[in-house]
Amino acid sequence: MQFIDEFRAPNAVKSLLNQINALVKKTVFTKDSPLNIMEVCGGHTHAIFKFGLDQLLPPEINFIHGPGCPVCVLPMGRIDTCIDIAKQPNVMFCTFGDAMRVPGQQGSLLTIRGEGHDIRIIYSPLDALKLAKLNPEKQIVLFGLGFETTMPGIALTILQAKQLQLSNFSLLCQHICIIPTLKALLALPDIKIDAFLGPGHLSMIIGIKPYEFISQDYAKPVVISGFEPVDILQSVIMILMQLIKQQYLVENQYRRIVADKGNTAAQAVINQVFTLQGNDEWRGLGKILDSGVRLNEKYREYDAELRFNTKRHCQQDDPNARCGDVLTGRCKPINCPLFGQTCTPTSAYGALMVSSEGACAAYYQYRQSDLI
Ligand code: SF4
Repeated sequence: MQFIDEFRAPNAVKSLLNQINALVKKTVFTKDSPLNIMEVCGGHTHAIFKFGLDQLLPPEINFIHGPGCPVCVLPMGRIDTCIDIAKQPNVMFCTFGDAMRVPGQQGSLLTIRGEGHDIRIIYSPLDALKLAKLNPEKQIVLFGLGFETTMPGIALTILQAKQLQLSNFSLLCQHICIIPTLKALLALPDIKIDAFLGPGHLSMIIGIKPYEFISQDYAKPVVISGFEPVDILQSVIMILMQLIKQQYLVENQYRRIVADKGNTAAQAVINQVFTLQGNDEWRGLGKILDSGVRLNEKYREYDAELRFNTKRHCQQDDPNARCGDVLTGRCKPINCPLFGQTCTPTSAYGALMVSSEGACAAYYQYRQSDLI
């Protein structure tokens, strides 16, 4: 298949749904005890809702939404650190748009931009580098956020900053790696995940091998999936086939994008610039062993936290907010008492409601009318 229409063709979708309906009858799953497939990536969550796949699939299949949205797992205290830095004199704080409306204890980056602080939305990390060259009298701080998908671009930006000997550029590093996150998730005692729809874009960088512990140690299928309806339904079939055969593997449905070994050049640049160090705190997942991504010693001069001598904020979430439970698949967004009440896209409490990959944003955008 070459064109996007082919991945959305009604006949192809119907045929795959027929296969799924037949296969699911060969499993032990029922409407009351369904097959729980966690989609790790928020891009999958939005595709599932946008194309109504959750409503087309039989009730024996239930999608649960995982922690694969980097903005969503941002603890509130990190936004407060962003704000501490952005409020310093002479700072130009550069971020991708997704992080602008995430609330911290002191408000969001959007609210403090309204107070006159210099916050810029960028579309590429190189935009921040350009701003550093154009504004030598200012301190340009780049908010580096995301899983391995965004790390190569940020790493290359740091290498260029070093090559250009830019002394007015630094990075507030909030990257997170997927494997420690999944290990932490699987170690939780009260979660029920039968299989994983693996993240497509992130796997393009890391490849499929790092997920093998899930199939080998936990006997759960993992299928790396594309984002179109045909991709997702084919992945569901691959999961069902593994469960029927009781052969648990990491399979790659998204071969047109994801090479099994990933992108080795991108992996090399990540390893050159970043290191895993320290047990960082993540929203919904708590502290994860060795999950803190830091700049390597050689590039530590670009660490904004060292340059601005910031402190780490520890903020407790509202006890009524169920962001953590949504991120770990313990409940759906609609089970949160704040959903659509005090938490909406225009006055969000949690990042899941404002991130373009957030599960609560997906429910609000595509299912709100069903819920009223
Ligand atoms: S509705 Fe808001 S508070 Fe509730 S889980 Fe979603 S983002 Fe968090």
